[in-house]
Amino acid sequence: MMNTNKPHQASLHDVVSCQSDYDPAALPVQQAQQIIQQFIAPIHAIEKLAIRQALGRVLAADIVSGINVPAHDNSAMDGYALRGGDLAPDANTELNIIGTAFAGRAFDGEVSQGECIRIMTGGVMPRHCDTVIPQEFTLHASELAVTIPAGKIKPGDNRRLKGEDLMQGKTALLQGKILRPADLGLLASLGIAEVPVQRRLRVAFFSTGDELRSLGETLDEGCVYDSNRYTLYGMLQRLGCDVIDMGVIKDEPAALKDAFRSACENADAIITSGGVSVGAADYTKQIMAELGDVAFWTIGMRPGRPMAFGKIHSHGKHAYLFGLPGNPVAVMVTFYFLVRDALLHMMGAKCPALPLVRAASRSIIRKRPGRTEYQRGILSVGSDGNLQVAITGSQGSGILRSMSEANCMVVLQHDQANVAAGEAVDVMLFEGLL
Ligand code: AMP
Ligand code: MG
Repeated sequence: MMNTNKPHQASLHDVVSCQSDYDPAALPVQQAQQIIQQFIAPIHAIEKLAIRQALGRVLAADIVSGINVPAHDNSAMDGYALRGGDLAPDANTELNIIGTAFAGRAFDGEVSQGECIRIMTGGVMPRHCDTVIPQEFTLHASELAVTIPAGKIKPGDNRRLKGEDLMQGKTALLQGKILRPADLGLLASLGIAEVPVQRRLRVAFFSTGDELRSLGETLDEGCVYDSNRYTLYGMLQRLGCDVIDMGVIKDEPAALKDAFRSACENADAIITSGGVSVGAADYTKQIMAELGDVAFWTIGMRPGRPMAFGKIHSHGKHAYLFGLPGNPVAVMVTFYFLVRDALLHMMGAKCPALPLVRAASRSIIRKRPGRTEYQRGILSVGSDGNLQVAITGSQGSGILRSMSEANCMVVLQHDQANVAAGEAVDVMLFEGLL
């Protein structure tokens, strides 16, 4: 596996200075997304994998069809292959049956005028035949002859054309595609057993906060179990990253510095949670700033206002840093709307933006213009057949249950104000089919 992790040239300062009205203390979501996208660079490291192992991985080169799929014109139905020109325009047509084509076993004779053959789905179309009459459309079929009712089919019907799925010499899959089940099948249909993919992105993460306890520890008074490491683990796994869980790091300068350095030396990206709020009484921000090029933002979003972003260095290695807020829902929302695309870009993935659908809000939603709000919702089909969305109870940024119960995010845009009951809102679904 080759690995050429090229250092990125532009500093964060260079990137933000290209933004008009950059204000780290009031940064709209869209602007934060742009800065992140511009600052980070994809990794360049490719490995070859058997196609099953490549599921969920990022394709590292275009795949060109070496063959036509299907290789020959063939039948889409079980029935009779015939010459379209033989079909009488206004009367039944009777044809003599002179042979049979099975899938994988072609008929090697010649079909003359007034003749046809029995053919199975996938059977190769004999020369001169361009049409198939499905079995169930025929009248009086015997061993020797078949009668085709007038007007039931047109010349060319029920024939699959050579190369209609994949044409030899054409690009079948584009570099940057995240391989899904259909793509594995498509590669197999081309006879391709191995593909080049980007190596997995390595992402280290840890939680900061003296009040945090790990599973198995006693929950002392005023303490909480660390849940962020588990949501982060899940989100990163789903994205196909290699994860390095570094545990809870105490709020001590030396411990934090060691953790950041070690993460930087072993990972492409680092995600931390906690300790980045305005006026936070801990050392996290100070250490981040010491180790590299890091900006501290207050983002116009809810939940998830504070965030640190940049690149840190240690012993000649570098890693991108996403310092997320501590509140459990804020971690998930900032991950999905600020980190996810960045990691995909680092992975070399080229995927279309996730679609927003419009649904009628079942209730009033209070919303102040000037920030993007991500409320957790349940999308369903109402009795009128239209999409509707209900908010999952209390939307506090510490209420993880609101995420767990939801099946979608209601995205209330930056300039949007209060939403009336029945008004359409933007919704992003959590789950897909594939
Ligand atoms: P902070 O951003 O560090 O000020 O934390 C904000 C809130 O999130 C506090 O109530 C923390 O206790 C809580 N919090 C921070 N980190 C975690 C974590 N890893 N798991 C659960 N709650 C957390
Ligand atoms: Mg904290």
